[in-house]
Amino acid sequence: MGSESERLMKLAEKWCARNYEPLPVCISKGEGVYVWDPEGRKYMDMLSAYSAMSHGHRHPKIINAIVEQTGRVTLTSRAFHNDTLGPFLEKLCALTGFEKALPMNTGAEAVETALKAMRKWAHEVKGVPDGRARIIAAANNFHGRTIAAISMSTSATTKRSFGPLLDGIDIVPFGDADALESAITEETAGVLLEPIQGEGGVVVPPDDYLSRARDICDRRNVLLCLDEIQTGLGRTGKMFCFEHYGIRPDIITLGKALGGGVFPVSAVCANQNVMSVFTHGTHGSTFGGNPLAAAVAIAAMDALRDERMVENSARMGEYFMAKLRELKLPGVELVRGKGLLVGVVLEKPEAHEKSLELLAAGLLAKDARPDIIRFAPPLIITQDQIDEALEIIVKVFK
Ligand SMILES: *Cc1c(COP(=O)(O)O)cnc(C)c1O
Repeated sequence: MGSESERLMKLAEKWCARNYEPLPVCISKGEGVYVWDPEGRKYMDMLSAYSAMSHGHRHPKIINAIVEQTGRVTLTSRAFHNDTLGPFLEKLCALTGFEKALPMNTGAEAVETALKAMRKWAHEVKGVPDGRARIIAAANNFHGRTIAAISMSTSATTKRSFGPLLDGIDIVPFGDADALESAITEETAGVLLEPIQGEGGVVVPPDDYLSRARDICDRRNVLLCLDEIQTGLGRTGKMFCFEHYGIRPDIITLGKALGGGVFPVSAVCANQNVMSVFTHGTHGSTFGGNPLAAAVAIAAMDALRDERMVENSARMGEYFMAKLRELKLPGVELVRGKGLLVGVVLEKPEAHEKSLELLAAGLLAKDARPDIIRFAPPLIITQDQIDEALEIIVKVFK
């Protein structure tokens, strides 16, 4: 009662628009997989800012990079060159295997950029009459909060009263390749999919879905764009989730962990056949590709590789999911996911209540759906720390 945490939470509630309903915990310090509140209570962070905190809180190499860069130059705009952008994009293209990258800031902006690329490609390369290009998206998707992104959403809460929404969008059920093929017309520019739906409740598609989607897009001259903002950079136990399926998309969007948990950094990657649609003046962002973001992203990519975080994600994810299944926790229907993107599906819609109980027991996780809890800890988590998390989870569920 009357604690510093309560005072600060009330203050935020008083002044902040009510577009979120945070769990009642106030974080004032973080290190690695742990965070603390002002009263000194310690919590394990098993949400990792929706996978944006994959490197763990205040990763020393990333903090170093931001400190070093702020001592030199932070923002130039793209009106001029800066000495950090080239090295950043060279590294990003090497990592993703694409010829070109376009830097933005938030995930939603990367999605907007990818949509613009697909539409422009359709009109200028494929030959769709101008203004007629269509995009296919999957039901239950999450691609951000801009008007374009919510125009693709199938969630009523996400879209209600925000219209008029964007035209030229076709929705197909996620995981159904036949439905995808049927939805394609002469005017289809591209297909936008999350390889695993994160916000949708860690929905893993059938094993052959993406390879079939790839094949369909090739046959029908349609671009395949994968939104890897949440699944990318090691989250699912591979550097990119598409690697699980033995395919390469035409376009990917990245964000979240690209910013190393300190700074919003996003990008769209594609080959020149697509990226060449962007010419001088056709797209931009004041902060996109700024030196601070570039320095942070370089450090974030280096840390992933140097500390073998992707391998750790695969190993710890497998261990964590195997244990969760073995435990046969009461009220748990099934456990699904890949790497350290784990969804626990409950028999009843009590994911919010369970999240509150986990919080009280010292573990931060959040309901992705009323009946689904997502566990997505930092990729640096150790087996001992997974065991510690499991102990808390068992206590709450048994
Ligand atoms: C989080 C997310 C976004 C939006 O990213 P923001 O940085 O919040 O704009 C888009 N797509 C996917 C798959 C995401 O998980």
